[in-house]
Amino acid sequence: KQKTLEVKNLKKYFPVGKGKTLKAVDGVSFDIYQGETFGLVGESGCGKSTTGRTIMNLYDRTDGEVIYEGQSIYEMSTQDQFQLKRKLQMIFQDPYASLNPRSTVAEIIAEPMEIHQLFSSKRERMNRIYELLEEVGLNRDHANRYPHEFSGGQRQRIGIARALALEPKMIIADEPISALDVSVQAQVVNLLEQLQEEKGLTYLFIAHDLSMVQHISDRIGVMYLGHMVELTSSDQLYSRPMHPYTQALLSAIPIPDPDIEDEREQVIIEGEIPSPIDPPSGCVFRTRCPMAMDICAEKKPKWQEAEKDHQVACHLYNDEIANDSPIKKLQD
Ligand code: SF4
Ligand code: MG
Repeated sequence: KQKTLEVKNLKKYFPVGKGKTLKAVDGVSFDIYQGETFGLVGESGCGKSTTGRTIMNLYDRTDGEVIYEGQSIYEMSTQDQFQLKRKLQMIFQDPYASLNPRSTVAEIIAEPMEIHQLFSSKRERMNRIYELLEEVGLNRDHANRYPHEFSGGQRQRIGIARALALEPKMIIADEPISALDVSVQAQVVNLLEQLQEEKGLTYLFIAHDLSMVQHISDRIGVMYLGHMVELTSSDQLYSRPMHPYTQALLSAIPIPDPDIEDEREQVIIEGEIPSPIDPPSGCVFRTRCPMAMDICAEKKPKWQEAEKDHQVACHLYNDEIANDSPIKKLQD
């Protein structure tokens, strides 16, 4: 399978004064394959949005690489970076904040087309706008209205139409359904899936809740405090979560059918997320980890493939260390 996006050891630090640094993203690596949906999940403040924005070059990276279709986005010429915007688009959690309230829907969707000089005649462009509105489940009567006249779900559809205006190959969706009513969430997810099928789109789908990405993602990466802690296929993540943080996140998902008893034990994650300005030594999860060992304070766990296509950063799965651990002994 072809890689659309490669993220290699990406870091994004923000200076926060007094010589301190907020390590929002601290060495994250993953690949996204053409046509797949990659879910990026974690609690708020874990760095998932910053990862998305740094990939979009909305933030300057601190270190690391982002490679789009084999080419480093940082080494591209300005012209190539401009062209990249046609292929790689973003949609946001709050479509209202990202839609100019004084522009009509048609003007909002037309803007990227104008910047990229896609159509020579106004009529052609207008026809394309009508087409896009229909593709996202709106209609041409909506074209001359203003964002405030629409519901949250409809606004997200406008945001999606604008993202599609340049016919991108990949979309980074930063919590696109988190702000919507539960009843509307499924509709927007269905729309995104339908568009993916029609257009062969590749998605990076960012969410704070595993239950939101469970069904749409082919693979999922779990982030905690600026680090990727686990990455595998959606199925594998749900059936065999390895990282204690993922296990805790999964146990927190309510079971929809009360007749079905879940075999998962409820794991409560205790304590607050530590500050990324002053993260714990060793493993960043250790202050909340029910399995923490002495080594976890001393040594940062390696990002390693514990099973085929299943990566995890946890000392429990590092043979040299875990052979001595009480859990390993229990399992044996
Ligand atoms: Fe828990 Fe240690 Fe694994 Fe971190 S490395 S998740 S503290 S067991
Ligand atoms: Mg966010």
